[in-house]
Amino acid sequence: MRGEGELRASVEDELGALLERLRRGRPMKAGFPGAEDIDYSSLLPFFAFELNNIGDPQHDPAFDHHTKGYEREAVNFYADLLGAPPGDRWGYVTTGSTECLQYGLLRAKRYYPDGVTYYSESAHYKVPRVLADLSMRAIPVPCTETGEMSYADLDRAVMERPGTPAIVLATAGTTMTEAVDDVGEITRILDARGVLDRYIHVDGALSAIPLALLPEDVKPAFDFTAGADSIGFSLHKFLATRMPGGIVIERRSPAGGVRRVPYTGAADTTVTASRNGHLALMAWYAARTLGIEGLRRRAVEAREAAAYLVKRLAAIAWPAWRNPHAFTVVLKTPPRRVATSWHLATDDDGWSHYVCLPGPGTAQVDRFIDDLTTEILTVEVGGEADGADVPRSPLLAPSEAGSELPPPPAMLDGVCHTNA
Ligand SMILES: *Cc1c(COP(=O)(O)O)cnc(C)c1O
Repeated sequence: MRGEGELRASVEDELGALLERLRRGRPMKAGFPGAEDIDYSSLLPFFAFELNNIGDPQHDPAFDHHTKGYEREAVNFYADLLGAPPGDRWGYVTTGSTECLQYGLLRAKRYYPDGVTYYSESAHYKVPRVLADLSMRAIPVPCTETGEMSYADLDRAVMERPGTPAIVLATAGTTMTEAVDDVGEITRILDARGVLDRYIHVDGALSAIPLALLPEDVKPAFDFTAGADSIGFSLHKFLATRMPGGIVIERRSPAGGVRRVPYTGAADTTVTASRNGHLALMAWYAARTLGIEGLRRRAVEAREAAAYLVKRLAAIAWPAWRNPHAFTVVLKTPPRRVATSWHLATDDDGWSHYVCLPGPGTAQVDRFIDDLTTEILTVEVGGEADGADVPRSPLLAPSEAGSELPPPPAMLDGVCHTNA
């Protein structure tokens, strides 16, 4: 049997190796949207305490070790940003956007047990799963080539079900292309078809907050002012909380429908009982220390890096594009070694995505382009056996600067960028 000292030494060794792996991987983190640039180290002392925001955030528990006051302040801050009506709002810190959409759909089902849920084919893969778990009737709606819900198809699907309450799961920033479904347009379709019994949940995992920080005249219609009844977003994506979490916010009285009664009075409102008090504190800390200006500066930085990446790829004639305001650049899948070492999320349709986040900036883009260029040259000279994976776009003819507009259809191969 090993002694205690020996055991401790081996644990230290394992932790050292883990830390080393994480440090080595960080500069190559490009395919997944978790930012890491906000310094939360002032909160380290709180990790010596259990912080449990059990149950409804409006009701303080019988014990002291909670951060519900901070949670309420954080929820209010983000609710303001998302245009939730003051005095008619509620929200809480969740385990992530999946719980947010579970919460939103559960609420929609309580209002409209006989409703049908519409969601686009590029919605997150958990959407059909949650709908099935909740035994909700659901219709996938085709999406356009840029990943946005096809409104003509939504209109047709709604028209085919007259008198049926409509639950719409809209996405603000799809996983693969960061497309934003137009909640204003969805609302107009439901109005035009006379569907008053309706509920709209917006899944804004990565993009809800960055979009909310845009100037009014360019902001897409996705928030409460456009007709959303609930919105969820992840804390570990744009808000860099390191550990997974989310916030769901609702208007207490749903925007549509004749049954406009909030189901208040129920103390048992949250999906889980125990909830993460540290995350609530982090969400509050980001709001308090960065404020709207600080958060906006981070969003602008990420968008500038994404625009720069499109431009650099265009200069080497590598097919790439991005949706308006997106952090995400969609590019032809690079040779396997490059796609793997940069952890690019790759669709089986030959396209990958690279998510530019606040923090790494354009320096990371430069390193990626260097790596890609070297690899293409190696392959084109006939060195590596990886050639089958390489789209043969010649490095030799630099094209014009990258377009910020959605790509020409030819560049998309007529594919709906799904995330199923
Ligand atoms: C990441 C993501 C999710 C899942 O969020 P979690 O916080 O991991 O549960 C849901 N929807 C979209 C659009 C996402 O990008």
